[in-house]
Amino acid sequence: MKLKLLSQTNVKNKTVLLKVDYNVPLTEKNGKYVVADSTRIERSLPTIHYLLENNCKIIITSHLGRPKGQIVEKFKLNPVAKTLGDLLEMPVKKLDYFVGDEVADEVKAMNNGEIIILENSRFHPGEKKNDLHLAKKLADLADIMVNDSFSSAHRSHATVVGVTKYIPVVAGLAFAKEVEMLSELIENPARPFVTVVGGAKISDKVEAVRNLSKISDVVLIGGGVANNFIKADGLEVYHSYLEEDGGDDKKKISFVAVAEELLEDTKAEKMMLHGYIPLSKILYPVDVVAAEEMENPKSVQNIDLTKNGEDVKIDPDVMFLDIGPNTRRLYRDIILQAKTIFWNGPMGVFEDPAFEEGTKDIARAIAKSPAKTILGGGDTIRSIHHFGLEDRYDYVSAAGGASLEFLSGKVLPGIEPMIDETV
Ligand code: ADP
Ligand code: MG
Repeated sequence: MKLKLLSQTNVKNKTVLLKVDYNVPLTEKNGKYVVADSTRIERSLPTIHYLLENNCKIIITSHLGRPKGQIVEKFKLNPVAKTLGDLLEMPVKKLDYFVGDEVADEVKAMNNGEIIILENSRFHPGEKKNDLHLAKKLADLADIMVNDSFSSAHRSHATVVGVTKYIPVVAGLAFAKEVEMLSELIENPARPFVTVVGGAKISDKVEAVRNLSKISDVVLIGGGVANNFIKADGLEVYHSYLEEDGGDDKKKISFVAVAEELLEDTKAEKMMLHGYIPLSKILYPVDVVAAEEMENPKSVQNIDLTKNGEDVKIDPDVMFLDIGPNTRRLYRDIILQAKTIFWNGPMGVFEDPAFEEGTKDIARAIAKSPAKTILGGGDTIRSIHHFGLEDRYDYVSAAGGASLEFLSGKVLPGIEPMIDETV
């Protein structure tokens, strides 16, 4: 997929509507909100510097939180504007409005090389509805839109899609990098390509797993998601976390049935470990770390799932909370042979030291691997920080849902208007 890129567009002296993701965590300090983690703001700096070098007028738009179409004091973008100004070491003018005459007047009064930031786009009910009247008003402010917010590219909102009906749009530097990294996974991965999926809710991930199971050489499953596969194999998961079904009244989806279908679809495909052990393409744990209660260390036990059905007594009150030692060894061996690795979702409840080994081992193995390593997911990122491994991967995607939808093979609504049809 080729995108129209900011780096290949003449923006000299233009007025730019810059869409970013400043949906950052805030914290209260001396009765005022301040930005608690500025990572997302920092990610937009290369694009902003590029626009400043081109003498642009920059109008920034972002959302923050879920204000549901109304003005909510704690979701105002003032702290964000403050942090952005500090990082850029220049004034950033925060407007109290998102659209309207005041905004139009402020933009008219701008000089080249100046930055203003509009109020939270989701204060306006038209944002989520992709209200074209609203989109037109925003588009009228600028010559061109630059989208640097990959994380909202899966939303058909006014500042993602609507505006592009009226002015041209190109991908900002961070957006382009994200697409380049993720495209490589689905278009041209160096092989063996290993996908590692864990975390809690299978509903968020199932479409990405479905697509990646076609493209990857092997898919390693852990976390709560693994329970769907264990159950699909006919094994008991007792009191474990299990997202059984989803969808809506019209169409119910059983995620155990989906897991079974994925296993069935890939059954004939085998991968070879060390060139001699044929393994199924989708692997789930052969053993788990379980407990009756997380708070009760005495109840923590390893369970060998390969012995299930034999004459072994399994404590019926257990929850599976991490992948076991044999699974860790097996997954590590496979990871170390990969040339491309994508990882999303912790292998266990890593927040509790008793159940962190699986995630830690996998995070370390991926860090050590000479493969191209790409990972994403809010909790996955928290886990690598927790283990002190954050700088050890080639690309860490902060885009969450949008990257999973991209990996499921869909053309995201925010990407569609940026596709370069001339190549
Ligand atoms: P990400 O944010 O990286 O996409 P998820 O939100 O899908 O990841 O899942 C992360 C959560 O999954 C973690 O908080 C972790 O405690 C939980 N988790 C992992 N394994 C299990 C398990 N076996 N049972 C219950 N919860 C689990
Ligand atoms: Mg999460």
